[in-house]
Amino acid sequence: MTTETASPYRVDTSGYYGPFGGAYVPEMLYPNVAELRDNYLRLIDEPGFQREFQQLLADYVGRPTPLFLAKRLSAEIGTTVYLKREDLCHTGAHKINNTIGQILVAQRLGKRRIVAETGAGQHGVATATVCALMGLECIVYMGAIDMERQKPNVDRMRMLGAQVVPARSGSQTLKDATNEAMRHWISNPTDTHYIIGSVVGPHPYPDMVARFQSVISAEIISQLLAHTGRATPDYVLACVGGGSNAAGAFYHYLDEPQVRLVAAEAAGQGVDTGHSAATTALGKPGILHGSSTILMQTEDGQVTEPYSISAGLDYPGIGPQHAQLFATGRAEFISITDRQALDAAFQLSRLEGIIPALETAHALACLPLIKAKPDEVVVVCLSGRGDKDLATYTKHLEEYA
Ligand SMILES: *Cc1c(COP(=O)(O)O)cnc(C)c1O
Repeated sequence: MTTETASPYRVDTSGYYGPFGGAYVPEMLYPNVAELRDNYLRLIDEPGFQREFQQLLADYVGRPTPLFLAKRLSAEIGTTVYLKREDLCHTGAHKINNTIGQILVAQRLGKRRIVAETGAGQHGVATATVCALMGLECIVYMGAIDMERQKPNVDRMRMLGAQVVPARSGSQTLKDATNEAMRHWISNPTDTHYIIGSVVGPHPYPDMVARFQSVISAEIISQLLAHTGRATPDYVLACVGGGSNAAGAFYHYLDEPQVRLVAAEAAGQGVDTGHSAATTALGKPGILHGSSTILMQTEDGQVTEPYSISAGLDYPGIGPQHAQLFATGRAEFISITDRQALDAAFQLSRLEGIIPALETAHALACLPLIKAKPDEVVVVCLSGRGDKDLATYTKHLEEYA
């Protein structure tokens, strides 16, 4: 896993992806981040770590997740569509691949307590789950407003024994929860590990999380080979909040330019409406949550309040690797509106009997836009299931009657 190539798309030895990345953290946080940076590759590479990680992915998460040929959707779109079924992971999304990996790192660093941030609650649930599994104390920061909007996930975390702490600063949503989780980590440096839920944050988090999620594209390669006789699709599509499911789905294809990488970001009500989370369309380079990346900001550099129908994409930045994939043109970023996502969610539900998460629906909405040919193969990362979004879908049932 440590074989570093000189790829412009992978992290370099100082923690950068081109101009993006790094570790811009307050001095108080420096020892924690340095401890992680100096140990993560060695820990992940240990045979004992890999054995335990792979075993948990198989027996607890339910991996490998299927690669499913969506025949009716393929006929409708006019190309060949495979769905990578991360929605079938334990807890309903890809996030658990990362929390399993990080809890094993935390254990090996001798940590007894876990802190995490969560927006929609999916990462909080995945973190509370692995803390219960390993018997570690779990504290999850969540925006007070998100706690109201996503009550079922708050209840799930509590059921799992986690303490959910409302973040009451700022807009009382994800970025504020992230700020408060970082503050908690500063005050409890020696016995606490901070499990970040996406490929964001200071180095080494973006790289560490991408490595844990890279199981997604590792499986796609062997499954696609079994299905079609070839290991590389023509396109890989994934939605990007912070970018972890996309980073995992792209990982083993980054240096294969014949595979076109497509990232769906949330346009919200429309890129120019002031109610959007389309980071690459609206953002500029800056520093957010410890790394240099692209983020939505005002003229004087204040972080802009994002908006998306999907809580998991409602984030004003993207991970530094995605900033680099965007800046170099390696990945194409497409902005998808709330309406386009809803259309795609109802379409998949009715054509394939799979209700996707609203986040995932943004990736599906790219299918008609990329103009893939009938004989081309498109893999969509189906990042999560839609049960958590049923209240939103129900509001729109009449429109799709
Ligand atoms: C959290 C979440 C996302 C967005 O997070 P990434 O780090 O961008 O993957 C996407 N899909 C689902 C189902 C999620 O729960």
